[in-house]
Amino acid sequence: MNHETADPRAEAARAAIPTQGVALWRCPKCAYDARVQSLGEPCAECGAPLGPEACRPAWLDAESLASRRRLAMSGALCGLCVLVATSLMPLLGLIFAREVVAVIVVSTYVCAGVGLLLQSFVMARLGAWGLSGRRATWMRLAAWTRPIGVVVLVALVFSIDGAERGVDGALLGFIQVAWFVVYLSVPALIIAADIALITRFGRIRKALAIATSPWHVAIFVVQVMLLLLSALTAIVPFIGWFVAPVVWNVLAGLACGVVWWDLSAVSRRGI
Ligand SMILES: [Zn+2]
Repeated sequence: MNHETADPRAEAARAAIPTQGVALWRCPKCAYDARVQSLGEPCAECGAPLGPEACRPAWLDAESLASRRRLAMSGALCGLCVLVATSLMPLLGLIFAREVVAVIVVSTYVCAGVGLLLQSFVMARLGAWGLSGRRATWMRLAAWTRPIGVVVLVALVFSIDGAERGVDGALLGFIQVAWFVVYLSVPALIIAADIALITRFGRIRKALAIATSPWHVAIFVVQVMLLLLSALTAIVPFIGWFVAPVVWNVLAGLACGVVWWDLSAVSRRGI
């Protein structure tokens, strides 16, 4: 190991991380096995400089990789189940022909509600992986924004009549404006939380030295489109309240599926 290099950037990089466990792991750009190389050297495969990000993250071990992979798989399956279940709703309607609308509405909400809770649990654990303190708390909060947001939206819809009763004039105007601001902010917050989670999953992918493929880019585009669609539908009464939770479930399933795919690649490659 050559620690006598005069490169100031390599020196700074070396000083920025603890000396314990400084052994390199993978090239962050091409994932080439860099274990025999030294900090600051160019990657033997692609020539990219090997900085601290080429070290194996301290939070990555076989056990946590296996448990996160199982979690990501259950999140993806959960999204798939909700999608299949809601696709079968018309069939359910045929069986219970008399109360068709009630049966479809109730079973969709039960499916989507259970799905949102399970996926929030999964995504909180996945998003906070490798983080500690306040940043981990923010990621857990981002993962729980969807079910919390749904509760707030439902509460808003049911409270507006009561809030308007017995008030008039300027106060009524203020209540209505405040109501709309909160009503429109909740889907916006859900979008922001989702983008934070997807970004975090991208960072985890980078830390695991998984190269971003055209598939990753294509799925990211689909995710953003679904997010915008869900935000637009979530604020439209009745039909949107019906569609948005299903879209959120599919979206969370997709995000978990991508994480599962990446973790499987790391698992095959070995750590
Ligand atoms: Zn490389």
